[in-house]
Amino acid sequence: MALIVQKYGGTSVGTIEKIKNCAKRVAKTRDAGNDVVVVVSAMSGETNRLLGLAHQIAEIPNERELDVVAATGEQVTIGLLAIALSEMGYKARSFCGFQIPIRTDDAYVKARIRTIEGDTIRKALKEGYIAVVAGFQGIDDTGSITTLGRGGSDTSAVAVAAALEADVCEIYTDVDGVYTTDPNICSDARKLEKISFEEMLELASLGAKVLQIRSVEFGMKYGVRIHVRSSFNDNQGTIVTTEDEIMETAVVSGVAYSKNEAKVTIVKVPDKPGIAARIFRALSEAKIVVDVIVQNVSVTGYTDMTFTVGRSDFRKAMTITEKAASEIGAEKVVGDDRISKVSIVGMAMRSHSGVAMKVFETLAAEGINILGISTSEIKISVLIDEKYTELAVRVLHGAFGLGNPSA
Ligand code: ADP
Ligand code: ASP
Ligand code: MG
Repeated sequence: MALIVQKYGGTSVGTIEKIKNCAKRVAKTRDAGNDVVVVVSAMSGETNRLLGLAHQIAEIPNERELDVVAATGEQVTIGLLAIALSEMGYKARSFCGFQIPIRTDDAYVKARIRTIEGDTIRKALKEGYIAVVAGFQGIDDTGSITTLGRGGSDTSAVAVAAALEADVCEIYTDVDGVYTTDPNICSDARKLEKISFEEMLELASLGAKVLQIRSVEFGMKYGVRIHVRSSFNDNQGTIVTTEDEIMETAVVSGVAYSKNEAKVTIVKVPDKPGIAARIFRALSEAKIVVDVIVQNVSVTGYTDMTFTVGRSDFRKAMTITEKAASEIGAEKVVGDDRISKVSIVGMAMRSHSGVAMKVFETLAAEGINILGISTSEIKISVLIDEKYTELAVRVLHGAFGLGNPSA
């Protein structure tokens, strides 16, 4: 008898019919003699709808209250799934985050899980129940409801699996695994049988939303076996595992993109010590995550500095940077929130040369201008005009031979 955590994403629970389908899958796993903990997302479109309601009242809603609103989506799904299971004759019990409790910090809208009390779920399992847990939500030290950032149910599931030392965490979604790139953009994307935690971490952090980045971090830290698969068929999906379990070592294993990008440029910044610290301190105090930073060597005593932030932080970042820029005597601040980031990822890039050159040549051949570049040992990211995103993904995917040979 195994302990299996199954997570069903928004599209998998998007209608009553689909919820009933998930219930059948859960029941099948239970019938095979396993203990089952199910983690669910809100029905597809529901979180956007809820956030939209709040935004009809305020341009920047109070984030504590925004979480109170957003967390209700998952509460509906756990109740409906538990009802569906009861109707099929199974013992099922739903749990909101605060009932377990799943404790987080108080960074509303993007809270981090600190601890999960396993006893509540263990007791329910022992009494023969299927536990149905709300993803995406937790509770902070003051008793306030928090949410874990978009896509956060993946993290809830892997964290629950870690806390309960589950045998496997199955992530059921609308594609049947992790592909070399988003299969909805590139029709010849190839399904990976296995992917290392490191590569998955990079892909997730660079925009491949099939797994939320923190779920991969949890999986890696606690050694949770993650199986990404489809809720619509029985195909074997992709196993996320340690590097030494992987035989295949392509130089580039995947292409990711993120349209959630905006860039801010400070023009004519005086080139002296402490200036960058002054600007980025103000952004960090506002809890704005800065991603790519580009700064040129100065020959005139002045330099331009460009950085990127998530699109939802763009207006806040512009206001803060404009204030800091005027205090340090920079000329002006310009911004653009219609850019995207396209990245290639591969463990074997560490020991191969010429990869960057191939990226630049491939994009140049399509007339795509590169606005910024950022690299690490196992990835190269370029910032480009948003309208070229899909094209850039396809040509890079082809250039590195990632396509399905039979497609
Ligand atoms: P869920 O609602 O189940 O959490 P998501 O929409 O969050 O599903 O994630 C699944 C989506 O991730 C897919 O529909 C696909 O468009 C996208 N995706 C992006 N990159 C990849 C990739 N490399 N492999 C598979 N899916 C990807
Ligand atoms: N419902 C949340 C969202 O849409 C969490 C999730 O689906 O993982 O972001
Ligand atoms: Mg998701």
